[in-house]
Amino acid sequence: NADAAMYLAKESGRNNYQFYTSSLHVMNNWKFELEKGIRNALQNNEFTLHYQPQVDLKTNTIIGLEALIRWNHPEYGFISPTEFIPVAEEIGLIGSIGRWVLETACNQRKQWQENGLPPVDVSINVSAVQFRDKHFVATVQQVLQDTKFEPCCLELEITEGAMQYVKEATSIMGALKELGVRLSIDDFGTGYSSLSYLRHFPIDKLKIDKSFVDEINHHSSGEIIVKTIIALGNSLGFEVIAEGIENEEQVSFLVQNNCRLGQGYFFYKPLPAEEIEGLIH
Ligand code: C2E
Ligand code: MG
Ligand code: MG
Ligand code: MG
Repeated sequence: NADAAMYLAKESGRNNYQFYTSSLHVMNNWKFELEKGIRNALQNNEFTLHYQPQVDLKTNTIIGLEALIRWNHPEYGFISPTEFIPVAEEIGLIGSIGRWVLETACNQRKQWQENGLPPVDVSINVSAVQFRDKHFVATVQQVLQDTKFEPCCLELEITEGAMQYVKEATSIMGALKELGVRLSIDDFGTGYSSLSYLRHFPIDKLKIDKSFVDEINHHSSGEIIVKTIIALGNSLGFEVIAEGIENEEQVSFLVQNNCRLGQGYFFYKPLPAEEIEGLIH
């Protein structure tokens, strides 16, 4: 990584200058490969969606599915969205990818219904850059119309980063609510925004970030943060869901503290669409 390389280079003086530049070179090449790959990926059908169930913590009933993008690169294999989404944002392709995700998830849900599965809500992740794009609201409206999707069954997950320009975010969120979709704040508690936005924005749900859930039962401040977010969400009338639940102890803690919903490997990993059919029959 660049920081490490820079540090090493500084540490050991000029002799390492070459190491530093060659490591940067490797990184730039990788980024170039990523950029090139992303441009081809949509056309070549290299993206797929996996779906991770969200459950009611008391009954274990599946109440929703989060769509998560997967990229199988023909040469490099699986590449994580945390790696390629920021690059897609940078090179202006997040809009097309986001539209593909939306269309694919809406069509998939329609397909499930035609196959006789009970209705289940679908949520998709919206990047901050995608959210702020001037075509975003119109795209959502268009896709809902084209796929004849009931807006109330669609949830959009946005991060606090998308909300830093308050005026702009207020009008985008207002327009989305008018379409009838639901809004949730992903990775809640890790961003930089002030709590006052909770009063001004038309939010339906808070997703407690995994980093806090990880600290449950470690007698740490993370545990207090989890309790506080649940209380805050419940008293402001939001739904609250904990992400990244990996064990039974975390479930008991969350239930005891009145968190109604959860998601994580303890229940289900993100799964290909075919495997979801067997779960919600
Ligand atoms: P996120 O929306 O916060 O999604 C949760 C991530 O945690 C997912 O990683 C999921 O597979 C993983 N996860 C869920 N439960 C557990 C658990 O119990 N333990 C552990 N260790 N991990 C768990 P994934 O799929 O790699 O996605 C990472 C991030 O990439 C997402 O974080 C989201 O920010 C972004 N992303 C994924 N799909 C999309 C997409 O279609 N569009 C956009 N814009 N971003 C996406
Ligand atoms: Mg998410
Ligand atoms: Mg999340
Ligand atoms: Mg997260």
